[in-house]
Amino acid sequence: MRALLGAEEERLLAAALDRPPDRAVRVHPERATLDELRRWTGAPLPAVPYEPGAGLLGPDDPPLGRDPLHEAGAYYLQDPAATVPARVAAARPGERVLDLAAAPGGKATRLAADLGGRGVLVANDVDPRRTAALVRNLERFGARDALVTRAAPAALARAWAGRFDLVVLDAPCSGEGMFRKSAEARRTWSEARVRRDAAVQARLLDAAADLLAPGGRLVYATCTFAPEENEAVVAAALARRTELEPLDLTWAAGPGLAPGRPDWASGSARDLPAGACLRVWPHRTVGDGQFVAALRRRPEPRSG
Ligand code: SAM
Repeated sequence: MRALLGAEEERLLAAALDRPPDRAVRVHPERATLDELRRWTGAPLPAVPYEPGAGLLGPDDPPLGRDPLHEAGAYYLQDPAATVPARVAAARPGERVLDLAAAPGGKATRLAADLGGRGVLVANDVDPRRTAALVRNLERFGARDALVTRAAPAALARAWAGRFDLVVLDAPCSGEGMFRKSAEARRTWSEARVRRDAAVQARLLDAAADLLAPGGRLVYATCTFAPEENEAVVAAALARRTELEPLDLTWAAGPGLAPGRPDWASGSARDLPAGACLRVWPHRTVGDGQFVAALRRRPEPRSG
């Protein structure tokens, strides 16, 4: 990070290691507005700069995790930066959507709300305990036309190749954005882990690409800063799979969101347009840290 960020590195480390984690409430658009939530809870909940449907929780606000409104699915509590991937994915009613690593449901609950009960959401994860939480959260959010699967992504890709209009891969990663809230994330980090996770991410991205219908969108996200797990993984997938192309995300850019840094990765990554990626940096805005990129499977050429 020092080599990449220069003078900014100290600010990143101070924010990513020492500042208390940020927490937000993201409202269920069919069940509440942020204004109603402010009235109901008495908390000021200033809007997250890059996500108008989410408000920031302050240290003195009531803990909203045990509130009846939470049980009623009026909102989801999450790191504000974690709202970005599902916003960028912008699921549309009627689409077939797959969240490949979905538990406990921070993105899937938003995808389901955007589908509005039309289309289908498959929310998958490999971890049994986390999958149970995913079911609870989707039920709490009143997700309709959603099903939860617990399958290896490669197995799903064999069963449902080419079926989805939108695939979201919120990949397991080295979790550098989690350092300030998880001692475990700090303890288990190593350079070898970054390399191992990048290899897993490449495999998962291949499965995600197999699952896309022609013209389908693929949103890739991590909560880590390392370019090896972000721009480099995406650029390598583009180089391996000529049916994929980057999508422009400048429409989704907003206050506090930064473009990707393909210039930090080596080789072919430099060809990835910076505008196909977004980053949330904890020293520049609210949120623990996030990387998002969007790709598309080229539509099939029309015959005749
Ligand atoms: N999308 C979730 C959300 O918004 O609440 C968070 C997902 S978390 C970043 C990554 C997930 O990947 C974990 O739930 C983990 O169980 C799952 N995972 C880990 N290894 C995996 C693998 N090899 N294949 C598929 N999923 C995996």
